[in-house]
Amino acid sequence: MPPIQRRRNIRLLSYTVFVLLVCELGILSTSVLSQTKSQRTKRSSPAMNAQIPKIVAEISPKNIENTIRKLESFGTRNTLSQQDDPNRGIGAARDWLYAEFQKAAAQSEGRMTVEKQTFEQAKAQRVPQPTMLTNIVATLKGTQPESVNRVYVVSGHYDSMCGSAIDAKCDAPGANDDASGTAAVLEMARVMAKYKFDATIIFMAVPGEEQGLLGATYFAEQAKKTNMDIEGMFTNDIVGNSLGGNGVRDARTVRVFSEGIPSNETEREAATRRSVGGENDSQSRQLARFVKEIGERYLPSMKVWLIYRRDRYGRGGDHQPFLERGFSAVRFTEPNENYQHQHQNVRTENGVKFGDLPEFVDFSYVANVARVNAAALAALASGPARPKTVTFPTSLSNDTPIKWEANKEPDLAGYEIVWRDTTAPLWTNAQPVGNVLTFTMKGMSKDNYFFGVRAVDKDGNRSPVTYPRPLPRAPRPNQTTTTEPGTPPVE
Ligand SMILES: [Zn+2]
Repeated sequence: MPPIQRRRNIRLLSYTVFVLLVCELGILSTSVLSQTKSQRTKRSSPAMNAQIPKIVAEISPKNIENTIRKLESFGTRNTLSQQDDPNRGIGAARDWLYAEFQKAAAQSEGRMTVEKQTFEQAKAQRVPQPTMLTNIVATLKGTQPESVNRVYVVSGHYDSMCGSAIDAKCDAPGANDDASGTAAVLEMARVMAKYKFDATIIFMAVPGEEQGLLGATYFAEQAKKTNMDIEGMFTNDIVGNSLGGNGVRDARTVRVFSEGIPSNETEREAATRRSVGGENDSQSRQLARFVKEIGERYLPSMKVWLIYRRDRYGRGGDHQPFLERGFSAVRFTEPNENYQHQHQNVRTENGVKFGDLPEFVDFSYVANVARVNAAALAALASGPARPKTVTFPTSLSNDTPIKWEANKEPDLAGYEIVWRDTTAPLWTNAQPVGNVLTFTMKGMSKDNYFFGVRAVDKDGNRSPVTYPRPLPRAPRPNQTTTTEPGTPPVE
């Protein structure tokens, strides 16, 4: 090769190396850019609470299985069954649960206390004679003085039934209905007792559900009488079976039922709702949306399937007495039920096995339902209270001013306004507005969107959303009587 040609080749080679280097640098700088961009995105997305992944990881399917098998071993847990036999009947189940919750409390450095809440249930439709009922109530006290009186309740019912609710003798294994929910609650207590939360969490196992929601009703009534500030209640009932009577296997979905129109709505509130909507925005529904957001964030393998009704057709649950007394509450239940394994005498007919037996329970599935519950409870009890008295202060405007009362937590960072189209099922937009008590959404009329407000603390924990309560309209100058709130003006 002549020298001139070699020099050209060398030059070409160095040029190629230079170009490659530039390209490489280009790629590098692009990746640096995209990294900052993704970091930026990460920063603006909701903060992860460091405790929650640990809690989720600690929940054990094996512990849940052991609890379900133990509860089944008492033969029956019918509310009317014997209370003084150490091996059979609801009394044995009650005492075993009490001891297990006490073991959980021993890990809490004094923050968790366990109580037997016993009362005499008068004669009722499914209670032939006055009967003593005992709720097992484990209270994990919050550590922030401003939040300790804010309470979240998670519950399962430990009673069971065979084909007849008043048959106290038959075997009623109740492995799915509702040893599954009870086991989920006990496992959450075991794991969460070791952690600290700002607000208080009550882990509860109640009897009398099959007799007419009696244990839950008593607790909710006492809570109302003592002005307990229950900001959310979860009942876990039939959360153990991932193979439906329809043949569908689905271990990745849990249904969360929430009512739209509050059970305790007054006539006045109903009139407002009829006028301006809100049938899809009860506080229980905000709680359900919160469960979906948090549950799916910390447990992406599970789908929280929101069902916009209080409960299934012709069925009820322990969330109802809470709803009737003005507390927000939702129900967790498996996606496809199998009626051959609920409220059935244990038997085999034409080769088909009937009865609510442990062999039909998917223990890993129960653990995942417990994890969704625990993530939501931990987020609720770590975060601030939802804002109170959220209103639209002025009436006719194309902008929307929103006003609320100040939260009292010392670690509060501020508030966010959320909104969505009136036909959207979930909140679609959020805007941080700082630590203020009023904010105007410019160019957005409250006639065209649903708005809400939530509180955020310095660690990024968010509260559930509060939906604004429309203020009564001021009387017009030529009106002699005050317009009822919600009465649309004649225009
Ligand atoms: Zn049940």
